[in-house]
Amino acid sequence: TQRLLGKTAFISGGARGLGASHARRFVQEGARVVIGDLLDSEGEALAAELGAENARYVHLDVTEESSWVAARAAAEAAFGPVSILVNNAGIQKLGPIIDTSLEDFDAVIQVNVHGTFLGTKVIGPSLIQAGGGSIINVSSIAGLIGLPNTAGYVAAKWAVRGFTKAAALELAPHGIRVNSIHPGRIVTELTAGLNSPIRPNQLIKEPGRPADISNLVAFLASEESRFSTGVEFIVDGGRYV
Ligand code: NAD
Repeated sequence: TQRLLGKTAFISGGARGLGASHARRFVQEGARVVIGDLLDSEGEALAAELGAENARYVHLDVTEESSWVAARAAAEAAFGPVSILVNNAGIQKLGPIIDTSLEDFDAVIQVNVHGTFLGTKVIGPSLIQAGGGSIINVSSIAGLIGLPNTAGYVAAKWAVRGFTKAAALELAPHGIRVNSIHPGRIVTELTAGLNSPIRPNQLIKEPGRPADISNLVAFLASEESRFSTGVEFIVDGGRYV
């Protein structure tokens, strides 16, 4: 069954990695999807693969409000009001706090936190116009515990989790649910450089796959999750136990 038939979805950072996996899943579920990213050639190729009747790519820098405003206009012109928003764009920079530049720390905050705020601020009114919907904010296990050598990312992902609760409270009267997701380690371009695909204290000794996260995102985008808002959804192979 197609759980998202007739819905329009917007995915930030959807040109590759987990976002691209969600875009493919959304189309399988019957949605039309708009992918916003900095990676124009990857994004255009993905939209072409999915077909112009199902998908569009729009250049988006999630840290720039004007870029979001243009992306909203392009999405609505293509497919009408958006009712599913996935704030997925994220970056991580590795290194100990005492060696991290303010510039690098700030870049991580800007993409993960400003990006989620601006996406909600600018696309939110489209969801209101659509009569309600679902916002899925991509946090991480790093938004539930501390991790060494990635303090900016930990701070940013905790912020995404907290922002989600504030947004859930404000947007509930408009019929909009807002939840955060907390993936464990999944093999993508973001994590390809990290030492092992399986965390030592992960109970399920198999690598996480993008489809594991897309299963959750499709559920949260659909009416099957109608009774959940303002909460954390963890898919991490049993790391946070
Ligand atoms: P990825 O690096 O493969 O994809 C991230 C995408 O975001 C890229 O396409 C990138 O171009 C885009 N992006 C970066 N900065 C942007 C900007 N300023 N404006 C627009 N787009 C921008 O990473 P991924 O593994 O697919 O991660 C997706 C999300 O999932 C991120 O928020 C990440 O923190 C989170 N996450 C990933 C894992 C994992 O193990 N892969 C675990 C937990 C959380």
